[in-house]
Amino acid sequence: MEKYIGKGVFSAVAIGKISVFKRSDMEVKRIKIDDPDGEIERLENAKKKAVSELEKIYEKALKEVGEANAQIFEIHIMMIDDDDYNDAIKEMITNQSVNAEYAVAVTADNFAEMFASMDDAYMQARSADVRDISNRIISCLGDNESSSSLSDEKVIICADDLAPSETVSLDKEKVLAFVTAHGSSNSHTAILARNMNIPAIIGVGDKFLSEIKDGDMAIADGFTGEFIVSPDDETKALYEKKQKDDEEKKALLQELKGKENVTLDGRKINVFANIGSVDNIGAVLLNDAGGIGLFRSEFLYLENSDYPTEEEQFKVYKRVLESMAGKKVIIRTLDIGADKQADYFNLDKEENPALGLRAIRLCLDRPEIFKTQLRALFRASVYGKLGIMFPMITSVWEVEEILALCDTVKNELKRDGIEYSDSIELGIMIETPAAAVISDKLAPLVDFFSVGTNDLTQYTLACDRQNPRIERFCDTHHEAVLRLIEIAAKNAHANNAWIGICGELAADTTLTETFLRMGIDELSVSPTFVLKVRDAVRKTDLSK
Ligand code: PEP
Ligand code: MG
Repeated sequence: MEKYIGKGVFSAVAIGKISVFKRSDMEVKRIKIDDPDGEIERLENAKKKAVSELEKIYEKALKEVGEANAQIFEIHIMMIDDDDYNDAIKEMITNQSVNAEYAVAVTADNFAEMFASMDDAYMQARSADVRDISNRIISCLGDNESSSSLSDEKVIICADDLAPSETVSLDKEKVLAFVTAHGSSNSHTAILARNMNIPAIIGVGDKFLSEIKDGDMAIADGFTGEFIVSPDDETKALYEKKQKDDEEKKALLQELKGKENVTLDGRKINVFANIGSVDNIGAVLLNDAGGIGLFRSEFLYLENSDYPTEEEQFKVYKRVLESMAGKKVIIRTLDIGADKQADYFNLDKEENPALGLRAIRLCLDRPEIFKTQLRALFRASVYGKLGIMFPMITSVWEVEEILALCDTVKNELKRDGIEYSDSIELGIMIETPAAAVISDKLAPLVDFFSVGTNDLTQYTLACDRQNPRIERFCDTHHEAVLRLIEIAAKNAHANNAWIGICGELAADTTLTETFLRMGIDELSVSPTFVLKVRDAVRKTDLSK
């Protein structure tokens, strides 16, 4: 078993035999010619043939990868007629009396090197395009067909690199995956592989081609960029499972994509995702979540060695809001303390940190830290649909103090002429029994509740969530926890507020019906559970 690491450009797993990609021999010789005009005519004929081949590839690409991606071949057709490129070839034929093949090859090298040396990654990737069209012209000059033949079995294509036209020309039905020694994730080859829904790994390095042969069994994991040759049985079984899970998930995604989350009797439920960093947004979009129900902003603080500035925070919140393109994003304010500690906060050691100066208590204790975060949040609010929620609430006075601080921040922004949205939703987390019990008093003050079942279970059942030894006492389905959620839901609705659940329990589909019957309006779960919960919601019938 041999493992190589590259960069995955399409997330899927392929398992099968290797086929090493072979090109027809393109060795170009420098030949002295006597008739430059005749040679230029030969070049023009080859270019015509290349254009007609590219038109066919364009049609194929149009069907397989759509118009936007097929456009590269229109660009290739235009590149063939590019004046600078043609002048360079013709000047070489005329001035140096060399054959067209040689002039095309040298010009291709010069242009490709020029692109490769540019700073811009997009322009660098064009180097492969100029080589691609030049190889096609050379092949047409020699009257070669530039196609490769594959066996009937589906295979993993391994190559040093693949040109965009080579990628599209391969019979998609026979390709399990592409693995290349070189290539960039911006190259059209990578873009095309992604759009052809074929797992692809690029940049595995030169060595692998000399160590593999046709027919070797291999695994290409486009999620991690791992390419495993001759896997043992255990590894193979592991990847077969990964492949099966992924396929089931993709099938569910296909089935649910764009569909509303409505119960069988027509109640609309929001299924959102929980994230801890901007890096998780890809997973949110990939799993087709309706929004972000919990952004744990404390990770921004935990990743830093000092307090993140207003500007640093603003940039992160803005990016999350923009990436979600108008879908709701609920950002939770700093929830530090207890199990989440950052040295620079210099917090005193506490006997019972879970019951100590954590979350909103710390923010109200150190309003300057809290105000910096609020300013960043309000400033970012103009870039999308923002909700802000506050963790670990136990009393009405805390919410009143928070709202007063929000007003202060808004007034300061107004004074400084800085814009913020006037439709930000403000909510609190229901994480303590106290908050659930007095939810009739809290609900009139806010737009929404979000139940943090992880802490609500901990505080209701007096079970430290960090202590594995008491797991059997920590029953998340405990009637006391469920009753508190029900009380909060009733009081939210009686006061025109909505209520969601963002703790781990939201992903427990054995409780989906129970939650919906309580009147829960939103379930926010890890991105990987979004589809499973959407599926459960759509199968629930509340009319019975
Ligand atoms: C919760 O307590 O359920 C919650 C969502 O917050 P965290 O897990 O971050 O404490
Ligand atoms: Mg919590």
